[in-house]
Amino acid sequence: MSREFADVPAMLRALSPSYPVFCLRPHIIAATAKRFLDLFPGRVLYAVKCNPHPLVLAALYKAGIRHFDTASLPEIAQVRESLPDAACYFMHPVKGRAVIGTASRVYNIDQYVIDHPKELEKILDETDGGEGLTIFVRITTPPAQGTLYHLAAKFGAGVEEAAAMLREAKSRGCQVGIAFHVGSQCLDPDAYRTAIDLAAKVVERAQVELHALDVGGGFPAQYLGTNAPPLEEYMSTIEEAVKGIHVRRDCVLMCEPGRALVAAGASLITQVQLRKEDKLYINDGIYGALSETVQGGIKLPARMWRLKGEHAREYMDFTVSGPTCDSLDVLPYKIPLPVDIEEGDWIEIDRLGAYSNANATRFNGFYPETWITVHDDPIGHVK
Ligand SMILES: *Cc1c(COP(=O)(O)O)cnc(C)c1O
Repeated sequence: MSREFADVPAMLRALSPSYPVFCLRPHIIAATAKRFLDLFPGRVLYAVKCNPHPLVLAALYKAGIRHFDTASLPEIAQVRESLPDAACYFMHPVKGRAVIGTASRVYNIDQYVIDHPKELEKILDETDGGEGLTIFVRITTPPAQGTLYHLAAKFGAGVEEAAAMLREAKSRGCQVGIAFHVGSQCLDPDAYRTAIDLAAKVVERAQVELHALDVGGGFPAQYLGTNAPPLEEYMSTIEEAVKGIHVRRDCVLMCEPGRALVAAGASLITQVQLRKEDKLYINDGIYGALSETVQGGIKLPARMWRLKGEHAREYMDFTVSGPTCDSLDVLPYKIPLPVDIEEGDWIEIDRLGAYSNANATRFNGFYPETWITVHDDPIGHVK
């Protein structure tokens, strides 16, 4: 259950929160989901790890998302038990045996990703065998320009190994697919073309027909200073590249966006606890919802809220610190805010729907966990 308010000021008047509050904007999530569903020529899976909050999953489901990229039993259980008819895909290349068995027997999961031949054996051992299973072989892709995290560094097989796994899975009765992930917040649509061309090479080497091709996540969100090409450009690049790959006529094209689907769908209200000149101490920080400002170097739009009285029109740059006692807990960039900001004022930090609560720790006893729903527009929203 979440409380619902018309806008942020209505929430502030009602709660006057001294704790951090996530503001979910379901209408933004709905609009973004619709764009993906309209533009992507295939199946759109939401990558649950990006934000597993029940309100976020419910908003996506309501917006028409029915397929979910899951990587653990808790994620699978949550999706299967809270969203009727939602399909789960087990997209983690390394899984415990008991986890595979439970996913298969309890939750009827029949789509799995692998990047090593031993993982195929584990899956065949722990399930009813090849019939009815779809095995995706995850391939490694070259580092793409401008991505925040190069996810192919940890997982993925080379062309020869991938081709051998596809043939083996096929010979054991499985349907087969190829999956990759070009890296999160990928600013170059050509990275998808490069990866799809590589998948085409694997198919040629394996001489099998693909039942599915999964182009992964990585689609960017708009942060401060991000100059991301429009989603249309990614989609047309993918559509064009897929023409060069030999697949079955009924081959399912899939994508697994996380960040791009939900980043703009939630902001975080923080409160100023103390001001020292040009330094502000607020109640959430890099061990909470703001870790990507450090890890990914992203910059987030922010604005001040004050209920009583006007604030100065003039702005200055502030250094903003989080609540833990660690001296690293400082945002790595300065935030322009009204010159007369003071204790008790709120700072709304936006574009925090992705990798925020999902990454937050309980370090020092601080943890942002309150969610409410609002129906106003995010900072800098263009209609
Ligand atoms: C994290 C992840 C995603 C989502 O990535 P985004 O960059 O958030 O779109 C999709 N697929 C896999 C396999 C992942 O690990």
